[in-house]
Amino acid sequence: MKAIKLLFISMMLVSYGSFAQEKEAKEEPKAEEHANINKFRQLYQEFSTPNQYRSASGAPGPQYYQQRADYEMDIRLDDENHHIYGYETITYTNNSPDVLDYLWVQLDQNMRAKDSKTPLIEGGGVQPFMQPSGFAGEYLSEPFDGGFNILKVLDKSGNPLKYMINNTMMRVELPSKLKTGKEFEFDIEWDYNINNHVEGRGRSGYEQFPDGHRAYVIAQFYPRMAVYNDVEGWQNSQFYGRDEFALPFGTFEVNITVPADHWLDGTGKLTNRKDVYSKTELARYEQAQKSFENPVVIRTQQEAEKLAMMPGSKSTKTWKLKADYVRDFGWTSSRRYVADAMAVKVGGKDIMAVSIYPPEGNPLWEQWSTKAVAQTLKSYSRMTFDYPYHKAISVHAKNQGMEYPMICWNYGRPDADGNYSDRVKFGMISVIIHEVGHNYFPMIVNSDERQWTWMDEGLNTFVQYVAEQDMGENYPASIEGLDAYPSRRGPAAKIVPYMAGDQRYIAPIMSKGLNTYQFGSNAYGKPGTALNILRETVMGRELFDYSFRTYSQRWMFKHPTPEDFFRTMEDASAMDLDWFWRGWFYTTQFNDMGIESVDKYYVSSEKNQAMKDLQKQRNIDDSRIPQMVYMVKEGSEDYNESLKGQEPSEVVGELKSYLMDNFTASERAAMKSPKFFYEIKVVKPGGLVMPIIIEYTYADGTSETVTHPAEIWRLNDKEVGLSKASTKEIVKIVIDPKLETADVDTSNNTWPAAAEVSKFDQMKK
Ligand SMILES: [Zn+2]
Repeated sequence: MKAIKLLFISMMLVSYGSFAQEKEAKEEPKAEEHANINKFRQLYQEFSTPNQYRSASGAPGPQYYQQRADYEMDIRLDDENHHIYGYETITYTNNSPDVLDYLWVQLDQNMRAKDSKTPLIEGGGVQPFMQPSGFAGEYLSEPFDGGFNILKVLDKSGNPLKYMINNTMMRVELPSKLKTGKEFEFDIEWDYNINNHVEGRGRSGYEQFPDGHRAYVIAQFYPRMAVYNDVEGWQNSQFYGRDEFALPFGTFEVNITVPADHWLDGTGKLTNRKDVYSKTELARYEQAQKSFENPVVIRTQQEAEKLAMMPGSKSTKTWKLKADYVRDFGWTSSRRYVADAMAVKVGGKDIMAVSIYPPEGNPLWEQWSTKAVAQTLKSYSRMTFDYPYHKAISVHAKNQGMEYPMICWNYGRPDADGNYSDRVKFGMISVIIHEVGHNYFPMIVNSDERQWTWMDEGLNTFVQYVAEQDMGENYPASIEGLDAYPSRRGPAAKIVPYMAGDQRYIAPIMSKGLNTYQFGSNAYGKPGTALNILRETVMGRELFDYSFRTYSQRWMFKHPTPEDFFRTMEDASAMDLDWFWRGWFYTTQFNDMGIESVDKYYVSSEKNQAMKDLQKQRNIDDSRIPQMVYMVKEGSEDYNESLKGQEPSEVVGELKSYLMDNFTASERAAMKSPKFFYEIKVVKPGGLVMPIIIEYTYADGTSETVTHPAEIWRLNDKEVGLSKASTKEIVKIVIDPKLETADVDTSNNTWPAAAEVSKFDQMKK
């Protein structure tokens, strides 16, 4: 009997519900509410189909392959003429199932060639104001001749190979087809003029000091193999200067000859330390290998300054470096360098954290650089995998922030008198954490930077934030006078100005870097913040961290795509995050939520207007209506004061007998006894879907926070109603009380509406 009655009621309510929806749909047939653009639809159209190379789980598939390029190089630096000479032997291994007719080699320095196309794709017109150096560069000086001179391209037997240079890419014709599993060895000889990176910008070059000496940070200095893989074929998209690099892994054996008084370091193990270090320097280095708390200076500031006062050495030394499995090679050299190092324990192994800087970097650099390197290795290893290399070097180069395997260039220079502001100090520590962090993304988790800037910059910016907070905790002296490390990116609220900005100048994260506006916010800030929100607010740390580590470890020393990341995060967590990827990565929508209304309801046994309307509409007579629990809105025509704060089972007899019939006395005693019922209408004028985090404050001063998953928006993207029952009266409701969701307008987030005064404050901001 009871079962039949319940069935009738539920059928009636279902039909009432669908009637209401139908009516709404007829009144407002909005195309955007159509299922095809539902924000929770699966990402099948955007994602490529999984295959034997890349699995649907986001892991490398059973047939996953990657190419290999091994290099042997002899490099000579002509310091006086800032010119570089190189000879390399590349052994290229074709692990793909495809037969190759030619190879593509990257000639990145050709971006600085006289006939470079880079200046010709700038359509911004005349700049209204320029620095003298910029003006001179644009209008007065002849273009710098910094492209590669390719002198020879030879096969193993010394026969010339046919090649063709298309701007920054060189196609080398293979004498015979390169089949699966086979390798091809060839030589390239080249030279080029090194640019002044302080004057002309750029990721490598030299800085000229007033004493006549220079410091070199050298990268993209050799013709580098392009990537060939299952998603791009040859990644031979031209280098215009912004989108970085895509490179295969391989072994590097590099001999670099520089003036004998230079200090040099680079990617790989120094295999002839005894030939290039003095006895004193060797002894200091051995001491540094045992120092875990503080760096040990290997070449002192005094020693560097003494060398800088003399004319440069005419004799040379050759530094030999060997790296086992890296995607690139960078190095630095100068007679003006100070160097220090300390050991860091990561995963049971001792890693050397190293800093190299001209005296101009002190006193800041001797104090914080090596410690920032050490903190980076610890934090990133915790979030991803144990750092696999034996060292990580931070080099101070003016205005630079650039990364290579085991070595990176970083800015942060005190004034001439040695003073520095907090801005310079935290800028320096942050850039070191960021660039050393790039060892993980993209040097080891080797994504395609040319195509997807966010895959290394966004992931790296996210872990950078975690490491910065660790830095503040583990080295309290670094944040003297502050509660926490002042991270520039990471917290949700910091991305609001960008998200709320002019839509004409915002591109989705899933865009090629070259084609985006506001590059820093697009490729660093927004994805970094999105991942922080995903971790703190959507997934929680445990699920996020496990999934993020799974991605990092699955793709360590491999080439992941965006889908591999998106899929792994879902695969390892049992969370459908398609809505999150869609909103944050594929659109430029922003989050804006607000409280539209809050209504109080009480329980009544008297038929209310909603039931009367339904009866009339469906022609149902009273005999077919069982006793219901009627919800009556305060202030409505059904409402009277006597309903306020009543116990529901005292008001509705049928409810009381239902409870008596179906529950034991102890079960009934354990039941809640709400007297206040609230309906909170939340509106979402912003397009982005996010969880609703809502804080209720009760009359007795206590409060409670409830998080509704983003799926609450799955059937209505504009407005939802929350129902909340309580034994205590609610006096205040706030959406997103801790500013976790990057809500662009918080003036509508509070009920009762925040006072006019605070609105005025917000406008002033
Ligand atoms: Zn970066």
